[in-house]
Parts: sequence; structure tokens; C-alpha cells
Amino acid sequence: MEPVRDEALIHIRGLEKSFKGVPVLRGIDLSVRKGEVAFIIGPSGGGKSTLLRCMNFLETPNAGTVSFAGQRLSQGSKDSFQLAPDVELRKARARMPMVFQHFNLFNHMTVLGNIIEGPVVVKGQGKADAIANARRLLAQFGLAEHESKYPAQLSGGQKQRVAIVRALALQPEAILFDEPTSALDPQLVGDVLEAMRELAGSGLTLIIVSHEMSFARVLADSVHFVSGGVIAESGSAEQVFERPQTTALRQFMDSIQ
Ligand code: ADP
Ligand code: MG
Repeated sequence: MEPVRDEALIHIRGLEKSFKGVPVLRGIDLSVRKGEVAFIIGPSGGGKSTLLRCMNFLETPNAGTVSFAGQRLSQGSKDSFQLAPDVELRKARARMPMVFQHFNLFNHMTVLGNIIEGPVVVKGQGKADAIANARRLLAQFGLAEHESKYPAQLSGGQKQRVAIVRALALQPEAILFDEPTSALDPQLVGDVLEAMRELAGSGLTLIIVSHEMSFARVLADSVHFVSGGVIAESGSAEQVFERPQTTALRQFMDSIQ
């Protein structure tokens, strides 16, 4: 597809998405540079998950463009929306996998099986290589002794760290996180945040939907507030949290404190 002249790793313009005629995203513009840690915040039901899912084409947008690493993955208006060919989408997804609130591990596969599936099936990596790489990552994230377990035998925090390792095993350029700690018992949140903190220092591009404000304050290069189907405010964590400009953001900040 047509290359775009932009330094951003992820570049979104005019993204729209409706469900049964009800608009959720009404024209999202967002650019994220390589290595940037971008947080997306906003009220429940405001379209944050839909935005991440549209970036990854788990949902098909109705209009707008999504470009990744200079490659346009979608293009169109409401009448003629086009996605890149399926094979390009699968490859692009492997370059920016998603970590979900409810982990979405393959429950019938072991931890090791979950991690090597993408590298072997989507990227065509040799199985021995994929296993060696998976074991290295499991050790790095303190999960080495769990490789033969099934997801049901793990705690929520362990499941989410496996999901992070599964994403990392694809050797992605970016990872999308959709409220990765909000389904966890409070005492399990810290380990997952610690794993994400490690990623943030590694040069990977991270897009994180999360209400962990103290975490965002430490890690975020940019914070984007989704309200009314658009990005209503963007800035550094300090700007967005300390000096909100819109009433909607001030109300949201009050509601979560
Ligand atoms: P958030 O993640 O900010 O809480 P969502 O993106 O999950 O918000 O949802 C935004 C709106 O879109 C909600 O009103 C939700 O009910 C609706 N929605 C999301 N996904 C679907 C779907 N697959 N079908 C119908 N409506 C949906
Ligand atoms: Mg959501």
C-alpha cells in the first residue's frame, strides 16, 4: 500500500467507528513515535478499547487511516473502506500485538505453547529457536518454572505476565495494552506493572489504556484523553494531570481520585 511520509511509528487520522449506527469514535487523530510510551485515558464506555482494536484491526473502522511504520494499513471513507490484504494485516499485528484485560491466553495450550504459537505460525520461526527464545523470556520475567503449566494453573498476575511474554516473543515494535491490570487482585498488580516498566525502558513503543495514574505519571511520554469519540486533550502526564484544559477532563480526573 501507499507509503506515508511521517516519522511516527503509528499514525492515525480521522478514525471513525460506529456500532449499529451509533458512533463511538468520531474522528481520532493520534501519532505515536518509535519508543514512545503513550497512555490513553478516559471514561468507561468512551471507546478506548475500540480504538486499540481498530489499530489492530480486531474491529474494522468505518473511516480514516491507520498507518504503521510508514505503511498504510487502511484507508477509506464510510462508503469504501479498505484494509490492506489479510497477510499484511497478520504481519502487522505480529509487529504490534495486544495484551488484553482478561489475558486471552489459549487455555488448551501450556505456557510454552502459548508463547511459541505466534512466532512459529505467523512468523515462520523454527520451533527450536522459538522455544529457546520463549525460555529466555520466561526466565527474564520470573516465570521459568511455569512453562509446562496450563493457564488455569496460574494466578491472574502470572497469566498477564505470560501474555506479555507472548507478545514480546513476536519481537514486536509496539505493544498495545488494554487495561492490563484492571482484572487483577490488588496484590497482583505490582508484578505486572513492574514487567511493563521493564518494557518501557527497552525502546519498545507502548500504547497503554490504563487508569493507573501514578504509573502513568512515572512512565508516560504522552497522555491522551478520549472523550466524545475524539482525543479531547493530549500532552505530557504533567500537563494532562496537573493542568487539564477541558471540563470533561477535569470531571474525569475528579471521578477517578
Ligand atoms: P472503553 O474501553 O472506553 O470502556 P469501549 O471501546 O469498550 O469503551 O466501548 C465503547 C462503546 O462501544 C460502548 O458503548 C460499548 O458498549 C460499544 N461497543 C464496543 N464494542 C462493541 C461491539 N462489538 N458491538 C456493539 N457495541 C460495542
Ligand atoms: Mg475498555
